[in-house]
Amino acid sequence: MLDVTDTPPRSLWAATAPQAPDLPELDGPREADLAVVGGGFTGLATAHFAQELGLKPVVIEAMEPGWGASGRNNGQVIPTLTRVEPDALVARFGGERGERMVALIRDSAQDLFDLVRKHGIACEASQAGWIQPAHSPGRTRISAARAEQWGRRGAPVELLDKKRVAEMLGSEAYHGGWMNRSGGSINPLALARGMAGALQRLGVPVFARSPATAIKRAGDRWRVETARGSVTASRVVLATAAYSDDLWPGLKRTIVPALAWQAATAPLGDNVRATVLPGRQAVSDTHGDLRFFRYDDQGRLVSGGALLMPINRAERMRAEVAGRLGAIFPQLDGVQVDFVWNGYLAMTPDYTPRLHQLADGVFSWIGCNGRGVALAIPIGRELAKAAAGARADDLAWPLTAPAPIPLHGLVARFSRPAMLWLYRRRDAREVA
Ligand SMILES: Cc1cc2nc3c(=O)[nH]c(=O)nc-3n(C[C@H](O)[C@H](O)[C@H](O)COP(=O)(O)OP(=O)(O)OC[C@H]3O[C@@H](n4cnc5c(N)ncnc54)[C@H](O)[C@@H]3O)c2cc1C
Repeated sequence: MLDVTDTPPRSLWAATAPQAPDLPELDGPREADLAVVGGGFTGLATAHFAQELGLKPVVIEAMEPGWGASGRNNGQVIPTLTRVEPDALVARFGGERGERMVALIRDSAQDLFDLVRKHGIACEASQAGWIQPAHSPGRTRISAARAEQWGRRGAPVELLDKKRVAEMLGSEAYHGGWMNRSGGSINPLALARGMAGALQRLGVPVFARSPATAIKRAGDRWRVETARGSVTASRVVLATAAYSDDLWPGLKRTIVPALAWQAATAPLGDNVRATVLPGRQAVSDTHGDLRFFRYDDQGRLVSGGALLMPINRAERMRAEVAGRLGAIFPQLDGVQVDFVWNGYLAMTPDYTPRLHQLADGVFSWIGCNGRGVALAIPIGRELAKAAAGARADDLAWPLTAPAPIPLHGLVARFSRPAMLWLYRRRDAREVA
């Protein structure tokens, strides 16, 4: 069972997203072709594409659509993985397979904005581009490599020199960088709710407040059970990500859940906004301990960070974010922070997400490593194809068996603070 006591502080998105669609709880037995567990971007996209393929899907969400990472993230629509570069994917997975994975990532932001347009979802969608500025001279080599590798594969990218980054950001803090024009930003909770609403209009049942408690064999099908109902289906997709519980034994031990903090400033005045990120792109830089920010429609800068010590975290995050933004944009020194909230994302040891086949007809997607907004959409398409019976070779992402992380309890407890500590040391050394 999911820990329903985890109620984070009220987020900016909860305050500004359109109301959630009115969704029922699962009550009584149901039949479907596909039972999707989890109502975040991945689960909702899977149901969407499954319906397009002619299947009858059902979505079962423990809380409300977007309650997990999908409704709490920074809303940056980024068509790359966090750390794994295109050439590295090709080297690891082989030419043809690797290039299909790269193409899926390359087109992921466009896929998301296309879906938003297709269903007319009101979610502050802005395809103004995504910029990754380099925080040290050494990291500009990473910018050049990324721009070259993505450019070679037809992505709409551009290498930016120091002067251009300074103009685009309104900050002298960076040494160069690169951008991808297909990226941008959304109000993520509005998108999750909008996707659920679109499914409802298409006649796809989406059940809320219905934690799945068991998945059992039912002849040659599967029965997903909740407290008051069940869905029997020939295929099951688990889209529970970092919020995975013990529903599928061992799944949650394949990832390390990492708590990430978000914060939003008070709306900035017109004069300030003219000097801070005037093109309103989404930005996340090259620090290991990431600096990231984007505007919402009210002119708030939405940012965040990570904390080492679990003490008084919400208050410390306000000060941390104001300080970080002030270091990049001196005109924001002491900026008021109105909202602070958090969410869990799923890390894998090699920073590569996994498309698992858990059993015959049971699939899952897990391990976004903090970059899953755009990716969730085409991955939903791949999961739908798998549910419709596609052969593993016909999927753009390899199907793998789950591999629990050795000493998972210890790793989950200590790897995140250890990683943060290391990142901060390395980031500081590179700046000096
Ligand atoms: C703070 C934060 C900031 C981030 N910022 C960005 C960003 O700017 N850009 C980016 O690309 N990525 C970002 N990410 C990552 C991105 O949010 C995730 O990759 C993406 O939302 C994952 O979507 P999902 O549908 O796979 O999982 P989730 O949205 O986490 O959905 C999982 C769902 O499963 C449900 N569930 C779990 N167990 C059960 C059960 N037993 N029965 C029924 N339902 C169940 C949960 O309630 C939840 O709604 C961020 C993540 C966090 C946490």
